[in-house]
Amino acid sequence: MQHADLDWEDGQPRSRAFGDVYFSRDSGLDETRHVFLAGNHLPERFAALAAGERLTVAETGFGTGLNFLAAWQLFDAVAPAGARLDFVSTEKYPLSLADLTRALGAWPALSPYANALLALYRGVVPGFQRFVFAGGRVVLTLLVGDVLETLPQLDARVDAWFLDGFSPAKNPDMWVQALFDAMAACSAAEASFATFTAAGFVRRGLTAAGFAVKKVPGFGSKREMSVGTLSHAPERLWRAPWLARPAVVTGRRALVIGAGIAGASAAASLARRGFAVTVIERHPHAAQEASGNPQGVLYLKLSAHGTAQTSLLLAAYGYALRTLSCTLNKGEDWDDCGVLQLAFDEATAHKQDALAAAFPEALLKRVDAAGASELAGIALAEKALHFPEGGWIKPPALVNALLATPGVSCHYGVAAQALARMDDIWRLTLANGETLDADLVVVACANQSGALLPDALLPLKPIRGQVSVAPATPQSARLKTVLCGEAYVAPAADGAHTFGATFDFKSTDTTATLADHRANLAALTELCPALFAAQGGDAPAPGALGGRAALRSSTPDYLPLVGPLASSAGISEAYAELARDATLPLTTPMPWLPGLYISAGHGSRGMVSAPLAGELIASLACGETLPLPGPIVDALSPSRFALRALMRRKKA
Ligand code: SAM
Repeated sequence: MQHADLDWEDGQPRSRAFGDVYFSRDSGLDETRHVFLAGNHLPERFAALAAGERLTVAETGFGTGLNFLAAWQLFDAVAPAGARLDFVSTEKYPLSLADLTRALGAWPALSPYANALLALYRGVVPGFQRFVFAGGRVVLTLLVGDVLETLPQLDARVDAWFLDGFSPAKNPDMWVQALFDAMAACSAAEASFATFTAAGFVRRGLTAAGFAVKKVPGFGSKREMSVGTLSHAPERLWRAPWLARPAVVTGRRALVIGAGIAGASAAASLARRGFAVTVIERHPHAAQEASGNPQGVLYLKLSAHGTAQTSLLLAAYGYALRTLSCTLNKGEDWDDCGVLQLAFDEATAHKQDALAAAFPEALLKRVDAAGASELAGIALAEKALHFPEGGWIKPPALVNALLATPGVSCHYGVAAQALARMDDIWRLTLANGETLDADLVVVACANQSGALLPDALLPLKPIRGQVSVAPATPQSARLKTVLCGEAYVAPAADGAHTFGATFDFKSTDTTATLADHRANLAALTELCPALFAAQGGDAPAPGALGGRAALRSSTPDYLPLVGPLASSAGISEAYAELARDATLPLTTPMPWLPGLYISAGHGSRGMVSAPLAGELIASLACGETLPLPGPIVDALSPSRFALRALMRRKKA
């Protein structure tokens, strides 16, 4: 990914790569309204929405966001309260924040909307990037990358298309049949489109993809443009039924079990969609287990090879940064002070070179030891990867802020005991005998999740981790960024540093131990000898350390379990033939447990992955555009282990 490379002419941005302007400064907003908004009949369609309904608009070429902001302004003016705008856009060369700020300065009429976009414009890194505006009334999913690669991975039902992008003559690589076919493949029935061009090959391509195309008067001096609707839905190829999406949830009572980051995130995302959410937590307060550490770090363990884990982390990182920036007080509950991943050995240095070659500098950048030392404010001997937007966070502050979303109520100090399907609802029995009914349940209680779901094969395993907390010294207080190697240390918050953490696959005892404090101190000394030991010799003795131990919840493939649940026994029965031939195109529907979802197994990266997991569950439950590429949603399927066991002829 590269940022757009711009020239400015009279305050008007022009792309150097394409040799074309983004909009006309005199009439760009009027042109957007004529071509894309009126061309798709959005004034009438937005006004006709009822509360609880939404319209999905998708665009090729986000550019300066002018079309998005104009659509949002119109939506605000005419759509009723309770209606939602689900906007998808694609962008290969996102503008830098500075260029976006300058470009949007041209439209004072849009300034409240532009300011909201600019305030959240962070974490714009490759992959699917979700933005939530106006308490969830408007959602933007920005697909960062080439539209020909990203659009086929979009799981959405688009009602109206803005076919933008520079002119076909200046950007011929984009205006191809594969684009028109990808549009048709994720269109709702009778989806509309509008585009400024009337080029014959564009009209023919859209017609071939199934759209009925009309020429209508263009804007200003442009004689013609094209509009139309989908008249023939494309034939759908066979898709494994276990990868289908279950039916949307119609009722609006939700239960979330577990008040850690996974549960709090799901609760907030559901409440924003009008669910009345009750969170059940066995402890007397939220964030008492793995989300209870005083400081966590936004750390990304990426691969240069496009793994599912990397796609998940890139989308989740951007979403987490945007969530933090609009939920917590910077400098107090979190800080985007940057993260340095130190190259502590040759193998790591090589891996970092590959990462630096694979990802844009907006995400990560190579720095030498001198550069790393300057960023850190403390002497470092190693070169490093610098993640400029990363930082630290107080996990309990985020969990509590999410649980304070209007529509969420919390029930503390009582454990969920049993979950049963009664007619068309779920009935949860609590340890005190009370029962609660709901249309939708999200199980988000880490390693405890399996106990509530005896009919699902969930290979969650605990990994004990202990962090240590040491008072800051005058020297250590100079640390300005998070340092990561095999361990991590964060800059001081409330006069103390958190560092660690241990990985223990055997013990499930959550009492903090002296041995683990020693292990954390040893790792810290490796990470940054200057930090405690060498600076005035005031490294804390293990006895002077605070800290805590908790159990992470992990899975065999290190991807979390996120999504709808199905019966494992039902899977074994429905797809028994897969044990004979794993490639059979079976069609038996998946034995879903309707309305039942899980978010668990986030390991040590829950602060990054859990917020987006909550958003994914809410989007699935409501049949909305998904915030992750389709193949990644499939890779997170909670049923994957039951299916794999079957395909490997093991008994599930
Ligand atoms: N809709 C924009 C607005 O409201 O400001 C203007 C779009 S501008 C004319 C065209 C945009 O399409 C540019 O930002 C360009 O980088 C993007 N683009 C061009 N080719 C692309 C491709 N293959 N994939 C994704 N984006 C592309």
